[in-house]
Amino acid sequence: MAETIFSKILRGEIPCHKVYEDEHVLAFLDIGPLSRGHTLVIPKEEKAYVHELSDEQMAAIGRVLPRLCRAVTQVTGVKEYNILQNNGPLAHQAVFHVHFHIIPKPSEEEGLGVRWNPRPFSHEDGAKLAEALRDALAD
Ligand code: 5GP
Repeated sequence: MAETIFSKILRGEIPCHKVYEDEHVLAFLDIGPLSRGHTLVIPKEEKAYVHELSDEQMAAIGRVLPRLCRAVTQVTGVKEYNILQNNGPLAHQAVFHVHFHIIPKPSEEEGLGVRWNPRPFSHEDGAKLAEALRDALAD
């Protein structure tokens, strides 16, 4: 994977407003926040996409995410928030090092805006798809 700006942040070559760090995880404030308290949570493993992460790295993020969300809601006083995680340019990923956004949602205008566009669902295709996914998971 090509190095990203987050590798430089991890090495301390570029400053960040650090919120949390352990053996596997770093969390820091987003430099372009959608709302006050917008925080990024990254694994120390340099992988672009979630599906490339080791189970251990993902588990380390999962272990600390609720605690980080509690801190963000407590300190900002904003109880509602989104967790966003983008994979690939079409999915709005700009930095190709896995990161989770914690984005407080204080009002309609601030925080994450979501365009939710549900497509028609076919039960016939859904049955095939779920079976294919079960097979892929069994491999
Ligand atoms: P993505 O669109 O890839 O999910 O989000 C990348 C995020 O990284 C953006 O919200 C952007 O503001 C943030 N970001 C990019 N460069 C830097 C940086 O150098 N420092 C910090 N703290 N955040 C950054």
